Amino acid sequence: MLVMKFGGTSVTNPQSVAAINTLVQREIKRKPILVVSALSGITDLLVKLSHSILAHEQDTLIEQIKDKHTLWINTIFADNESEKLAAHNTIASYLTQLKNLLHSHNFVNQLQLHDSVVSFGEMMSSHLISKYLSSKGSLAQQVSATECIITTKHFGGADFIDAATKKHCKKTVLPIVEKNIVPVITGFIGATQSGETTILGRGGSDYSAAIIGYALNSEEIQIWTDVNGVYSADPRVISDAKLIPQLSYQEAAELAMFGAKVLHPRTIQPAVKTGIPVRVLNTFNIENCGTLIEHNADNDHGLVKSVTWKKSAPLINIYSANMFLSKGFLQKIFAVLANKNISVNMLSASEVSVSVTLDNIGKLDEALVELNKFAKTDYIEGFGTVSLVGEKIMSTPRIMQDLFDIFDSSNIGVQMLSYSASNINISMIVPSDKINEVVPILHRKFIN
Ligand code: ADP
Ligand code: ASP
Ligand code: MG
Repeated sequence: MLVMKFGGTSVTNPQSVAAINTLVQREIKRKPILVVSALSGITDLLVKLSHSILAHEQDTLIEQIKDKHTLWINTIFADNESEKLAAHNTIASYLTQLKNLLHSHNFVNQLQLHDSVVSFGEMMSSHLISKYLSSKGSLAQQVSATECIITTKHFGGADFIDAATKKHCKKTVLPIVEKNIVPVITGFIGATQSGETTILGRGGSDYSAAIIGYALNSEEIQIWTDVNGVYSADPRVISDAKLIPQLSYQEAAELAMFGAKVLHPRTIQPAVKTGIPVRVLNTFNIENCGTLIEHNADNDHGLVKSVTWKKSAPLINIYSANMFLSKGFLQKIFAVLANKNISVNMLSASEVSVSVTLDNIGKLDEALVELNKFAKTDYIEGFGTVSLVGEKIMSTPRIMQDLFDIFDSSNIGVQMLSYSASNINISMIVPSDKINEVVPILHRKFIN
């Protein structure tokens, strides 16, 4: 079995939609399982919709969502009247369900409603792609991941539950594959044990694909996107960025965690458990070899492979007068953050203070209240991270010296610096408005 995930642009653009069909037919013997994102821009509209309370605003947003799907249907099914009509009807019915959902009072809180609302993007795209494939002669069937990815109750950014997900994937997806039908599974979403819809966090369809690949022990997980693979920096920002043919799991995980949008940060986590290779490929250039991510990547040890950045890295400084010799202070901090579903990216500690940058802000207000019970906190915005990633990065000659020279001559203050024990990442916290300036300099120095 082969898991193939197609992102937003890939399921929207007519050229890449045709490529999906070509790929499915080419790989049919390997039993492809598709995971799809919502059409481009739909999740953003649904997020807005979930926050809007004014009826006319909701109507406008639903109309925009409808228009994008209508355009898709009229283009992709241009010469197939019966498919066109059926697809319009199904989308209309999804939108009616969506409106009803907005007016229902079955939700415990806003986050839970939000997850149910945004799940419609993937529900609609998976329906359309499965119908498209069927119209081209491949047997395909839509599958909702609420039937197979079982998650925690962390609405907005849930995590999968291993045993339950394996059991449900086998029960739901395998019988379809065994009948030689291609499952077209919704990315991004899952459901709790009691059936409430959850999402896996923005950009989470990559993670969905990895979870399904892991649960069904697929031979490979392919992430099909709109660039040739993973580059030494975002190729849309750094025009001479280089394609990286191979990466280790750890490098890929660090790259994603520290800002490379091409992979959701948690994608590698399930794949690495059983060593399933992950390939990042381009739907607009299907003959390209892309980037292969696996255990024993043929590594140029000691070289910086990539420069990544995050424009925003919310920071909390936590001070305790009692930290001197106090036991369990860090443990208490991490317990509070974990409880509020907040994960930490970077940490630096002195005897009286701890600074952490946050990967997501989860229930930040509640976390600050808890932390203030035993410490004093400052929450600081306006900073971001810039990271260099590569196995054995510290063996790069003069790396620290060069870094300090660059920041010094650009007159950019580094608020915090950290390099991981795994010797794979050096990250710096710098003012967000300086990131555009420093990234090309770092890329020129360490990659080109
Ligand atoms: P999809 O909709 O297929 O999931 P995304 O927009 O989430 O696509 O991710 C692909 C985008 O990631 C690319 O268009 C590119 O601009 C961006 N990107 C950021 N960093 C990198 C990188 N290091 N290598 C490749 N692409 C990157
Ligand atoms: N549609 C979701 C998003 O835009 C998930 C994804 O595209 O991966 O975040
Ligand atoms: Mg993505």
